[in-house]
Amino acid sequence: MKSEKKPRLKEEILTGIGVSTGIAMGPAYIITQRGLTVPEYNLVPEKIDEEIARFHAAIVKTQKQLSALKQKAASLPDGVDEEIGLLLEAYKGMVSSSRLSAAVEKSIAEGKINAEAAVQKQIDSIAEGFAAMKDDYLAARADDVREVGARLIRNLMQQSYNPFADAPEGCILLAEDITPADTALMDPARIAGVAAVLGGPEGHAAIMTRALGLPSVLGVSALVSGAQHGDLVIVDGHEGKVILRPTAATQTRYKNLAARLARETEKLQSVRAQPSATLDSVPITLMANLELERDVDAAFKAGAVGVGLLRTEFSFMNRTDLPSEEEQFETLRDIIRRMKGKPITIRTLDVGGEKLASALGDDVACVNPALGLRAIRLGLAEPKLLDTQLAAILRASVFGPVRVLIPMVSSVDQMRQVRERFLQVEKRLHRRGGLKLPDVLPPLGAMIEIPAAALSADALSKVCDFFAIGSNDLTQYTLAIDRGDDRVAPLFNAYHPAVLRLIQFTIAAAWRANIPVSVCGEIAGDPKAAALLLGLGLREFSMSPSRLLPVKQAIRNITMPQAVDFAQDVMRQSDEDEVRTMIEQGLKKK
Ligand code: PEP
Ligand code: MG
Repeated sequence: MKSEKKPRLKEEILTGIGVSTGIAMGPAYIITQRGLTVPEYNLVPEKIDEEIARFHAAIVKTQKQLSALKQKAASLPDGVDEEIGLLLEAYKGMVSSSRLSAAVEKSIAEGKINAEAAVQKQIDSIAEGFAAMKDDYLAARADDVREVGARLIRNLMQQSYNPFADAPEGCILLAEDITPADTALMDPARIAGVAAVLGGPEGHAAIMTRALGLPSVLGVSALVSGAQHGDLVIVDGHEGKVILRPTAATQTRYKNLAARLARETEKLQSVRAQPSATLDSVPITLMANLELERDVDAAFKAGAVGVGLLRTEFSFMNRTDLPSEEEQFETLRDIIRRMKGKPITIRTLDVGGEKLASALGDDVACVNPALGLRAIRLGLAEPKLLDTQLAAILRASVFGPVRVLIPMVSSVDQMRQVRERFLQVEKRLHRRGGLKLPDVLPPLGAMIEIPAAALSADALSKVCDFFAIGSNDLTQYTLAIDRGDDRVAPLFNAYHPAVLRLIQFTIAAAWRANIPVSVCGEIAGDPKAAALLLGLGLREFSMSPSRLLPVKQAIRNITMPQAVDFAQDVMRQSDEDEVRTMIEQGLKKK
């Protein structure tokens, strides 16, 4: 994304995927690849080859990113697509130029310095060369070189710097891509809304912006070229629109819409005090999904009766080391204390896929991350990682009711192994002495988010104390559609009959085994899905706190026989569009 291109003063309406509802208006704050503090250190001779290999891996990653951006740019209007495409192609050329790689390799090998520092030195020298040129056009290429260099260095560092540190209050973040680690650094008190070129509706960045209540639109191609720092921008998370430099009339229209939405949200507050039950008084448990400690207040405000999913991976992001047992224990203890006796379901580390923790370095870098060493697979391959977390959870569980949830389970044997490790960890903690520990192990449950787990639900129910259905990954793996890729976003459909059958089967297996089952994927937070899920037998929902009151309102308007009838009608359909239409229309159709 460039901030110094020709000014375009007219209003521009761009479309993308609305991933977090609400309207935000404010000055654009464009996140570039700049602002890095580049580390510099000396290498021992044995590390030189490794360092050169690391540099080459970063080149490949950078080229891939640039290709992805170029592909996005192809959907821009004629002329603009060409201009941006050429620029990105030129960037790719710079990254892979033999002049740059030869010079960096030489610097690493002869200067015995790390790759980041070597790249920075070369970029400085090339950029200075351009800047000194008489021709204005060529002189301006110095900026492009620095942009490319910063991207390369950021990929080498594998860590997110805080790109929002200087964001002015009330701004709209415009970025090429927002990583889950980036979202963990966003302060919703300062940032009003978010728009990005890349990203799908159920990716973690989308989930996080929803959790933060930040209106967001992702997959907006033309952001690459359209905006400049400080431009007034409107993000319309309902319609999936981003309006650059809105006219006075557009501003007024959106201000009125925002006021209407605020009144509706206010009205919804009255639902908070009402019982969480269907119209015919069947009690329903509504819990919150928490990403970070800061979400606890939102969970209380929404009236959640507990936490159905605490994603612990965010404690592992934006750092280069792993949190110790003590540190994890303290974080969990504080959250448990703040929940004041309400039950909390703590999920063990789920990194891999699009959630990469830099502290784990190359351990989680896979050829196909979504299918690689992710979540519990990583935990069992690196038992120290899992044991440390289990120890921290066990110690924290004396401060309130806790359940332990295992992500990405695909077999009965994995659950047996985890339970065995949990028992061993407990024994070790007892031997260590001087620690307060619970009398019995907290319940141990499995995320049902891989089709194999759903289809093995009866067998898994014998080795699990509870199930939590992760509809996001279950959809991704059933339909083989990347949940975070905007290019296939229209195909990502949690209401596909195949996904619904797996959910139905899992809920039924849990009922047969008499163990609790909840849904904690994004469909649990969709008020339109409430009747269907109730009708399939679900009684426990866990969702982003911002979705809780709308879902509660929907549940309070449904009777159980209506829900069962509706679910039966939906499950008779074989066409996903028909299912979608029925869900959109809701019970009105009956
Ligand atoms: C899911 O996959 O539905 C889920 C809740 O887990 P996550 O979104 O963290 O992968
Ligand atoms: Mg998941």
